[in-house]
Amino acid sequence: MTALIDGKARAAEIDRKVAALAATYGPPTLAVVLVGDDPASAVYVANKVRRCGEVGITSIERRLPADASEQDVVATVAALNADDAVDGILVQMPLPSHIDANRVIGTIDPGKDVDGLTAVNAGRLLLGRPYLVACTPQGIVDLARGAATLEGANAVVIGRSILVGKPVGLLLQAENATVTMAHSRTRDLPGLCRGADVVVAAIGRAHFVRGDWIKSGATVIDVGINRVPAPERGEGRTRLVGDVAFDEAGHAGAITPVPGGVGPMTIAYLLVNTLTAAAARRGLAPPSI
Ligand code: NAP
Repeated sequence: MTALIDGKARAAEIDRKVAALAATYGPPTLAVVLVGDDPASAVYVANKVRRCGEVGITSIERRLPADASEQDVVATVAALNADDAVDGILVQMPLPSHIDANRVIGTIDPGKDVDGLTAVNAGRLLLGRPYLVACTPQGIVDLARGAATLEGANAVVIGRSILVGKPVGLLLQAENATVTMAHSRTRDLPGLCRGADVVVAAIGRAHFVRGDWIKSGATVIDVGINRVPAPERGEGRTRLVGDVAFDEAGHAGAITPVPGGVGPMTIAYLLVNTLTAAAARRGLAPPSI
């Protein structure tokens, strides 16, 4: 029987721990910078603000128009860096195409970089001294840890992006898994996956990983979020699916659903990172979640 890995329940558990600690620290503050009026970004920001409110983290929003210059965004970040009341800074991606996202990220104070995207925080992870680590990768490894023994496990990570695949590979190595990083040039990906105790799929292609790629009893973490047509729901309707052909994976030991798997964990670890940054800025020990 395949166990369904419940990301919503685990995220709620983390939120409760964050809320208890936030109350003892005095409310941490997260600043969210949103540039332009992309509706999806607005929804993501609204969800983050709501979850902050639920756990006692104060959130402040800095909204800039779509035609704001890179200098405007950098100046906004600089003001938040200098603001002693702000513990964490998040710049919602994507930024409008005339703004260099890497340049903006590079200006965030690494001590307030709750997305874990600055070179300093990525470097700390590589050096084995992680501090603020990217949120989705932390959520992925948290769910994998809860479902499988990672020590000594053969793990295949499909996808090598800076945002997901690469940090997941480093975090799994830190758990003493034996990690193979796969990507679009990998030979015999199905064969590679068949030898894996843990498969992390972070590709961005609906149902790309087939059931017969998955070893019986393996743990499968599906990171993909893909919108596909759902005519059964009515004309023009769509639904979200993962990178794994979920219906073919009934022999997996455990699998994350999409939605309801990795998705809720990303905000949970944003809250954890905000707490971590707040603890450091208050001279307190890092929170243990
Ligand atoms: P990305 O930057 O586009 O990276 C995709 C990776 O998949 C690349 O490394 C690419 O290989 C690899 N790939 C593409 N085609 C492949 C193929 N045919 N065979 C093997 N590997 C292939 O995407 P991302 O930002 O990592 O995101 C991946 C997915 O996770 C997306 O669906 C995204 O929406 C989702 N996501 C979910 C969350 C969440 O909170 N649940 C958060 C972030 C991302 P190359 O490097 O060789 O091009």
